Amino acid sequence: MHPDSLVIFGDRKAKTENSVSPPIYQTSGFYANTPEEFLEMSSQARHDRFYTRAGNPTHTCAETILAELEGAEAALLTASGMAAITSSVLAHVKTGDHVIGQKWHYPGTTNLLKIFLPLFGVETTLLDTTDIQQIENAIRPNTRVIMLESPANPMMQISDLKAISKLAQSKKITTIADNTLASSINQKPLDLGIDITVYSATKYLSGHSDLILGAAVSTKITIEKIWKTNMVLGACLNALDSWILLRGMRTYPLRVRQQNHNAISIAQFLEKHPKIKKVYYPGLPSHPQHKLAKSQMSGFGCLVSFELKTEVPQQIEKFFSSLRFPLRAPSLGSVDSLIVQPAVQWSKVGGEDADLGIPRGLIRFSCGIENEQDLIEDFDHALRQISG
Ligand SMILES: *Cc1c(COP(=O)(O)O)cnc(C)c1O
Repeated sequence: MHPDSLVIFGDRKAKTENSVSPPIYQTSGFYANTPEEFLEMSSQARHDRFYTRAGNPTHTCAETILAELEGAEAALLTASGMAAITSSVLAHVKTGDHVIGQKWHYPGTTNLLKIFLPLFGVETTLLDTTDIQQIENAIRPNTRVIMLESPANPMMQISDLKAISKLAQSKKITTIADNTLASSINQKPLDLGIDITVYSATKYLSGHSDLILGAAVSTKITIEKIWKTNMVLGACLNALDSWILLRGMRTYPLRVRQQNHNAISIAQFLEKHPKIKKVYYPGLPSHPQHKLAKSQMSGFGCLVSFELKTEVPQQIEKFFSSLRFPLRAPSLGSVDSLIVQPAVQWSKVGGEDADLGIPRGLIRFSCGIENEQDLIEDFDHALRQISG
């Protein structure tokens, strides 16, 4: 079924009492009628009608759609994108193991790999995953997980998901791809051989800047493992969150399509503009990995990074404050356009920008679903306010 139809039809089985909108099970638990039934409900297998930390039918409804969007067997909703990442990694490592990750992960993932895992005797190597030779050289007999993120944030590096998963499979290493920036509409890592996709569902999937939650998608056996870890961490959500997510997901493919469309138009507009130094967008032929991006993505997403020719802070500020649409806010993939200057604004979040080669003047724009022409005019106007 096409994603457009799946997000509408996918909740059909969950509808009860002839309600057109799926019901919400806003309950912390479910009761048994007999002692035998109670025993069955509390069994160790994954289930959604016992205690909501373990599952809830409203979660199941959204998880079914999430899995089907990727042609996968199963999905797990978690309290945040970081919960999905942490539980997926922890479910696959123990003391003495080794994990390979990227130099430029989402800052929370960098903290998990660089600071937290070593506390528990798990070694990590963070490298340039656009260079498969570096990965091959870093693999050790105890390497258990390769963590990837393509495109990466905010410089838009692309990693070859197919080649890396092939290499990992030959060494029995589990691959996890954070597919948040691409979205499951634009990129299907599982089809390229990746074992687990993880998401900050806070972004495109909910899409309205009103939720924090995450998801992992994989085989039934793998999701069961991640589920057990996530239950111990307690990184579960309430039924209301997945019900609001279900509403967001009904327009997920539509929104992503509009965002792809807006982003490429803005990227093309900026690339031609005399006050712009450089644009970083995988959908532009000028992106150094455009061919690879085209081979593994069907759309290029909402994030456009760029540098102005001027690096004078007052000029950059003038540009920001002259924009009407984008809000100066973190996050991405929302219906609203959002804008940040990562090297300046993320340094307080613990980013090590110097290492990561993020230019100081880099601006990261997350396209909303506003009208394309309005957005271009907004940028044009703001660029006219600054000098060369
Ligand atoms: C936002 C984000 C996360 C973290 O997700 P939360 O929902 O905020 O926990 C992880 N990875 C990427 C790429 C993100 O953009």
